Order: sequence, then C-alpha cells, then structure tokens
Amino acid sequence: MILDDEKYMNLALAEAQKAYELGEVPIGAVLVAKDGTTVSVGHNLRETAKDATAHAEIEAIRAANKKLDRWRLSGTTLYVTIEPCPMCAGAIVNSRIDRVVYGGADIKAGAVHSIFNVLTNSNLNHQTEVTAGVLEDRCCGIMRDFFKMRREQNKKKRQNTPLSCEKIEKDTCTLEKE
Ligand code: ZN
Repeated sequence: MILDDEKYMNLALAEAQKAYELGEVPIGAVLVAKDGTTVSVGHNLRETAKDATAHAEIEAIRAANKKLDRWRLSGTTLYVTIEPCPMCAGAIVNSRIDRVVYGGADIKAGAVHSIFNVLTNSNLNHQTEVTAGVLEDRCCGIMRDFFKMRREQNKKKRQNTPLSCEKIEKDTCTLEKE
C-alpha cells in the first residue's frame, strides 16, 4: 500500500499545532504502519516535560514502543514536520523505522540532509528511505509564526518592565543600608 504522504503530514501538522498551543517549538510527528493505520503520534514537549530529549520524534517512537510492546519499528513510516536532529535521527536508525518523511529542512540542526546524513549513511547497519519537502510551506510556516509571536511577546515584556530586576535589587539594597 502506498501511503498518502500529504494526509499523514497533515496529522503531523495537527500535532505541531498542539505544541504551539503549549508554547513549545511547533514540531509534530506521526508513525504510520504499512496498512495506513496510525501507530502513534508525538509533539515537542521539551519545555513542558523539562526534558531535553522530549522531541516530537522521540515522543512518537516511545509511544509506539509501548503500544506495540517492542523496540523494533520495522515496517513503519515516520512523518515529521521538520528535518530530524542528530538525536532523533539516531533514534530512528535504532528503532529500524523503514521510511522518514519530513516537511521543512533544519539548516542549523538537521541530520538527514542539512548537516549530517545519518539516515542513508551506508556505514551504519540500517538505512532509512527518505522523502523531504512534503507540505514544506505549512511546516515552515507554523515555525515562522511561532518565532515571530515569541519575539513580539518578548518585546512587549521588555516594554512593560519599568525597571530591570537588577536595578530594583540595587535600590532595595541601598535603602536597607540607609
Ligand atoms: Zn530531535
């Protein structure tokens, strides 16, 4: 069965939206079986979980391991909105996922094409089929919206703070001394 990449990337985008609403960098992932059933989903939860490894792909892989009661995820395709980082690419290789489909490239941390080439590296014991650029505009668009919103929030925060914390502390200290 040939999977409808856009259909599943839309599900990954819905996961990214959940991250956005939590104030997390909006990246979502969906793991799909050969017959088209969704095995698991995940979205970035790094801030919420206070866990450096809580990337969308890792969340989806962990949920699938639990659900299927096995570490080996052969026969599945992982859809993720943004190119996986080195940690996630390593987890994809280690879980023997057959295929990865991603939306936008991550030129600063991508480990599929941008910086490293982990998934198709013939020196490793497992190679993953890769399709890039599916719904790229929307996958990158939600990231752009998020960072724009966060910049504006930070700007507002700075404007609403009449004195910096440092200044307040200094003033308090002076008063106490007097
Ligand atoms: Zn990652």
